[in-house]
Amino acid sequence: MKEVTKEYTNGEVTIVWQNALCTHSANCVKGLPEVFRPRENP
Ligand code: SF4
Repeated sequence: MKEVTKEYTNGEVTIVWQNALCTHSANCVKGLPEVFRPRENP
């Protein structure tokens, strides 16, 4: 599997996503849907 890292920032907080670590449990979206919006910004 090719390792991919994506960064998302609002200038104050930066979220770093790494495909090698993501289990796709969707706890991010379920817990904080106003921040994690995979349909708008994968
Ligand atoms: S909380 Fe979200 S980003 Fe983190 S491992 Fe689960 S699905 Fe992936």
